[in-house]
Amino acid sequence: MGNTKPVEQPKSINKEGEKMKDIKAELKKKYPLFLKKNPFCNIESPVCTKVATCVNHTRGRGRDEILNEDTWESSCVPCNQFIESHPDWNGGQHKISPHTKQTK
Ligand SMILES: [Zn+2]
Repeated sequence: MGNTKPVEQPKSINKEGEKMKDIKAELKKKYPLFLKKNPFCNIESPVCTKVATCVNHTRGRGRDEILNEDTWESSCVPCNQFIESHPDWNGGQHKISPHTKQTK
């Protein structure tokens, strides 16, 4: 993954960084497994490429939900970006919460 970018600064990560680090390490292990089980994009927006390469958190990224695979759906990157900028598309059923909102 692209973790080598030297200029990347965490924008709104605060004191709870340790815990988030654990979660992120966990996700890193789980995402590939999930995508192996669910290789096709579940969103199918107008820009869909069909092949899922990332995971959408349908219930947001709160601490209780982020590791709950029942709230995940496989997604391609274009769809993920599409629903991010069109949260009400398709009745809003694929809405995702902004990445940084949950770190409180
Ligand atoms: Zn897609």
